[in-house]
Amino acid sequence: MPRDLAGRPWDDLDFLGWRDPQSPARAYLVTELAGRPAAVALRCPDAAARHLRRNMCSICLTAPQAGVSLMVAPKAGRAGQQGNSVGTYLCSDLACSLYVRGKKDPGPGARLQESLTLQEKTARTLAAVAAFVAKVTG
Ligand SMILES: [Zn+2]
Repeated sequence: MPRDLAGRPWDDLDFLGWRDPQSPARAYLVTELAGRPAAVALRCPDAAARHLRRNMCSICLTAPQAGVSLMVAPKAGRAGQQGNSVGTYLCSDLACSLYVRGKKDPGPGARLQESLTLQEKTARTLAAVAAFVAKVTG
């Protein structure tokens, strides 16, 4: 677990995500799924190349200057044992919630102009995280 848990801006987080400080190719994501906490361990196979890319995060639809990484999670249960995994493009710093709320600057041109309310945007972010976690655990 990250050491700065108490200092995290909980009110502004749709999910908790962090990279393993000892191993930058690993990241973790914790969210709530059907009222229960669900945690997913992710690998970032392209960790070395993440700053070269400027793709769009599939969770928050931001293309941050800090980069987007393809993060892969082994599927739960037998499918995972057989080597099946699920991948998604995620902000390399996992700061999706803060980008959506405008609490962290993702850099110029990183976010689309949208007419959605913040509530609609955070609902979409939560739904995207839940859909990803459901794919991993389902
Ligand atoms: Zn993101």
